[in-house]
Amino acid sequence: MRRISLLLMCLALSLAAQETPMSSKASPATPPSWMNASSAKLEAELVAKYGESQRPRAQRGLHQVADFWRAGDGDAAAFEDFVRANFAGDQATLHTMFDRFQSLLETLSGHMHEINREFRQQLDLDRGPVLPFDEAFGGYDPGAHVIDDFFNNKLAFIVLLNFPLATLDDCLKNGPSWSRRQWAEVRLAQQFDKRIPAEVNLAISEAASEAGQYISQYNIWMYHVVNDQGQRIFPPKMRLLSHWNLRDEIKADYTDPQSGVAKQRAIQQVMERIVTQTIPEVVIDNPNVDWNPVTNEVKPAAAKDADSTKTIANLSNTREPDTRYAMLWKTYAASRKADPYSPTAPTLIDRRFNEDREIPEVRVQAMLEQVLSSPLVAQTGKLIESRLGRPLEPFDVWYNGFRPGSKFTEAQLDEMVAKKYPTAEAYQKDIPNLLMHLGFSPEKAQYLAANIIVDPARGSGHAMGAQMRSEKAHLRTRVEKNGMNYKAFNIAVHEMGHNVEQTFSLNEVDYTLLSGVPNTAFTEALAFVFQGHDLELLGLPAPDAKARAEKTLNDFWGTYEIAGVALVDMGVWHWMYDHPQATPGQLNDATVQIAKNIWNRYYAPVFHQKDVVLLGVYSHMIDSFLYLPDYPIGHMIAFQIEEQMKKAGAIGPEFERMAKEGRVIPDLWMENATGKPVGPEALLEATKNALAAAK
Ligand SMILES: [Zn+2]
Repeated sequence: MRRISLLLMCLALSLAAQETPMSSKASPATPPSWMNASSAKLEAELVAKYGESQRPRAQRGLHQVADFWRAGDGDAAAFEDFVRANFAGDQATLHTMFDRFQSLLETLSGHMHEINREFRQQLDLDRGPVLPFDEAFGGYDPGAHVIDDFFNNKLAFIVLLNFPLATLDDCLKNGPSWSRRQWAEVRLAQQFDKRIPAEVNLAISEAASEAGQYISQYNIWMYHVVNDQGQRIFPPKMRLLSHWNLRDEIKADYTDPQSGVAKQRAIQQVMERIVTQTIPEVVIDNPNVDWNPVTNEVKPAAAKDADSTKTIANLSNTREPDTRYAMLWKTYAASRKADPYSPTAPTLIDRRFNEDREIPEVRVQAMLEQVLSSPLVAQTGKLIESRLGRPLEPFDVWYNGFRPGSKFTEAQLDEMVAKKYPTAEAYQKDIPNLLMHLGFSPEKAQYLAANIIVDPARGSGHAMGAQMRSEKAHLRTRVEKNGMNYKAFNIAVHEMGHNVEQTFSLNEVDYTLLSGVPNTAFTEALAFVFQGHDLELLGLPAPDAKARAEKTLNDFWGTYEIAGVALVDMGVWHWMYDHPQATPGQLNDATVQIAKNIWNRYYAPVFHQKDVVLLGVYSHMIDSFLYLPDYPIGHMIAFQIEEQMKKAGAIGPEFERMAKEGRVIPDLWMENATGKPVGPEALLEATKNALAAAK
């Protein structure tokens, strides 16, 4: 097995190396030469048969099929026979076709999902040891080849011949006046809006897994990070994964009055060395070397805290040779291979914004800039300075001192929860009560509870919705031997929010082709609404105004931080598309410059320091294909939904109304839900009020 996957990886790499610029030769996605003549002939035939009113549909369908038809799909005669047989030229046939595709595709994805869930059972649930073959079952994806199969058996072409593909522009411009059925038709066609060859998908997943592997081993051994006096300021065995653990250690160090600031400064230095790639290669994941990140001096470790097989032949501080950026570059090069097969979104940037997020990039940029340039940032910065008793330093972008104080200790809460929920079954039984507490009617609460199955989770918990109406949603929650603890309860309430959304948005939506919500930010926002009421569900008082203000300021400062990180991610992807011949070294320089520019524009005025590169440290930037903008948008959406819930007064009916809207585009969903498109206004308004309350 291992041999094969190594071979495949080499193949993917050599494909990347051979790639030529897109425009220099005919792309493999070019339709056959006879296509234009055949399409013209068929258009005339179809209009003659079904009437002039069908001309626009015939033109559109023929064009959509031509975009994806390859020589291997059949010659001109086969194409013409296919179109004649499968164009639904009258309403009755079209209705039947729509209904049957909707129901059979629900069956397909529902059962694929069911197989997936069952195959992952041993990994996901607390059911004893995981054996090696369980991993293979868990990693198997029975739906991996469905799109290929549907093009091969021509079902995808039937959809493309009869239902409209729509770009994000169409959806934004015309979507508000479409009927629900029109939306469902668009969602049906969009399932087949790209035909990416298996070898391209393989190259993309290889690049992703190689980058993920690189990231997952990027540890810094903190006991070996020393200062100018050679002193160790971090404890033995502390191994921090970049960037998550490094960032979280900065957050934790705020509670260390003695050496917190020294530690935070040292971590900032480490992060900057990673971004600029001036980090000595030998210190990465190596406890055998002591390193002063300020002078960049390395020495054999003078103290031992961990066993490691790493050996050092020639100890030197030779820098990491731009590997970070070589990894990022490979994800770009692999993504670009899919471009010619995705006619409605021909770059990764287009696919991320126009297809996955469905919010145009210019609007996302404007929303991020609106947060970053808000006067509330400087006011919040001043408040942080007054709490810290010192001027801000760059690492304070991760300040975490805004905390809702609790009247109860964690131990007291643990005791209450364990008593109430000794087992997962006890939680299952209580679901109707919890939902009625949240404002659902007794009937709705019973109905929802009957659609949620509680399972004991191996990890901290998660929610797994169904994909067909005959299946139920699963709530995975962690229950210790002596009962559930407060943390697990808090998570279970969040996951229950997902399950309730999943149940409404699948079972109660008018077309299953529209099941779900626009993207993950929406389901998260709805789950946070539940989670925010967890204390009340235990019969305790709701958080007071002061606690709510602290939480809002924490979210605002986090949004400010991640908005800049998102802009760096976006800037870097544009730079790569603008410089298709660049080297990893040039990408390093460009990333550093982009990070500095954004810092200087939006952070230097608050932190009074220029040219900081910290915004470039996120690991997602290397292996997650332009994912980072989802975070700040998610915060904005959460505040919009929360504000609407407050306005409505009761959660239950409002939650149901929102969740039943289904998967239309985000702006339209949000207009229906709150009267306004997606935007940062609710977050900024809440922050303004929170600043007044926190003073
Ligand atoms: Zn969640």
